[in-house]
Order: sequence, then C-alpha cells, then structure tokens
Amino acid sequence: MRQVRGRFAPSPSGEMHLGNAWTALLAWLAARHSGGEMILRIEDLDPDRSRPEHASQIITDLRWLGLDWDEGPDIGGPYGPYTQDERRHLYDKAIRKLTEQGLIYSCFCSRAQLHSSPTLAPHAGETEWRYPGTCRLLTEQERQAWLEQGRRPLRRIVVPNRTFSFVDHIQGAYQQNLQAVSGDFVVQRSDGVHAYQLAVVVDDALMGVTQVVRGADLLGSTPRQLFLYQVLELTPPSFAHVPLLCGQDGQRLSKRHQALSLTALRQQGISPETIVGYLAWRAGLIKRNEAVAARDLIAGFSLTLLGKDPIAVGTNEL
Ligand code: GLU
Repeated sequence: MRQVRGRFAPSPSGEMHLGNAWTALLAWLAARHSGGEMILRIEDLDPDRSRPEHASQIITDLRWLGLDWDEGPDIGGPYGPYTQDERRHLYDKAIRKLTEQGLIYSCFCSRAQLHSSPTLAPHAGETEWRYPGTCRLLTEQERQAWLEQGRRPLRRIVVPNRTFSFVDHIQGAYQQNLQAVSGDFVVQRSDGVHAYQLAVVVDDALMGVTQVVRGADLLGSTPRQLFLYQVLELTPPSFAHVPLLCGQDGQRLSKRHQALSLTALRQQGISPETIVGYLAWRAGLIKRNEAVAARDLIAGFSLTLLGKDPIAVGTNEL
C-alpha cells in the first residue's frame, strides 16, 4: 500500500470562506485519519486573478483553524515548488509529451476564447462549453494564414470518443464521454498560461498525491483529468468529491457571501473551534453543533456520513 498523501489546493483569487474551510478540513481529516501526509499547494496559475496577499491570508486562516501540512509553499518539501506559478516548466514538459503523441493542436477560434476561462477550476453553476472541434482539421496553410494575421492560438487536446468512468468515494459511480461533454479541451491559453485541468494532473501526480478530496463541483472535471493521467502515463489518485456548501440563497458559497469569509467570522469573535465544530456537525462527524479542535476529529473521522447534496449554511448557525 502506498502511503496516503492528501492535498488542499486553493486558488488565491479571494478571501477564504466557510466553503473553502469545509473542503480543507475534510481533505485534512481524510489524510490524517489514515496516518497520511498532507500537502498545501497554491493554485496561482492565473496571473490576472491570483494575489500573493490572498495566498498568505489562506495560510494564516488554515493555521488559525488548527490545520497543518507536511509540505507547502511556506515550509517547502521534497516535491516543491508548491505554488503553480513556479511550476510552469513542468506543464510545458507535459505539453511537449502530448504534442509528440499528436494530441495537441492550435485553435484560433475567438469564440472559444471568449467562452472559456481554462485556468480556473470550473465551478458549479458555470456552464461548460463543448468545443465542436473546429480547428482540429486546420491545414498547415490555414494555420500559417491565421498566424500571419497576428492571431495567437490557444492549445487544445484531442479527446477520444470514449467514456471515462470511476467510482467516487462520496458521489459513487460516475462516467462521462469526453467528446460529448467537453470536446477537445484547452490545455494552454493563447497568452501561454496553462489550464487548470493540465496543471492539476501534473501536480497531483508529481507530488505523489494518492487521495483527492475536493468540492463536488469538480466531479465533472475528473474524467478529463483521468484522460490526461492516461496519456501522460501517470498514476491517478482516488477521488472523493464532498458536497458543496451554499448560502441561504442556494448559491454555492463564494466571495459574494462576505459574511461567511473567515476574516469576517474572526472579526466577530467567532473561535476556530466554533467553526470547525460547526463544519464537523454538518459533516455528521459530531452529534451536536459545539466547539471542537480539528485534531480531536481525526480518530473518529469518516467520509461515509456525508451525503451528496449541497448543504445550506447561515451565519446564524455559528
Ligand atoms: N484550485 C481549485 C479551487 O480552488 C481546486 C482544484 C482541485 O482541488 O482540484 O477551486
């Protein structure tokens, strides 16, 4: 049996909120319960949306909650660097490997550029757009013509007409035909920034991650990632997609829900144990909504008590 290695991989595009704390706590408990190691990776791929001050605040917030990690941007480790911005050469190497297999092509469709934001993990409520493959069959002449017009292409990967299936530890059996759902997806933007789908696979594999615990909004991305594991000849981890937390408005928690940011909660004098206890109660780990330290949840942890459906949270419950 491989040593369990879990990870939490936040994007520093905003303040950490209760939903991020939920995922971080569950990923951390899953790793620690199995006596495994925990990795913190900052997913700052997108230079337009990532801010170093958010990354340091995330680190402060996670420590405040009582979570720790064995490897991360602040403490280093054998599989570093632990921020994606410093790992771009590894993504380039992966693209070269895929190019050698004839799987990568240039896409000049401006419509496609408008419709996708490939550096961010797709989140619930965001419609995913299926690329119809327009540029897959461009001739070399057509390609040159576009380049001469000064158009910079993005890069896509050819997906097979195949169904990828896996068993998620929480959501159960899941399958998806890549051609039907995403089509040939983006691996690198026209400005050279690599796509989330590619980077996350390269990083999880090279960091030896064996267990991915993350939000259920990424369930639909997993078949694309499994395909990348296969063509890059890398070993995939197991997956557990935890239900999303949503506000009383039914929307997945996000920056909009200011009141549920960890900074706001801290400013109201709410203790980390109160937050951890509340999240543990919602996860079915404890019977009552009461304060508890994260480390005291390790022994009795199990993902089996979690349902699949989104969980509505409100400030009045804390
Ligand atoms: N960086 C992604 C996010 O913050 C998470 C990606 C993942 O866990 O695979 O939404």
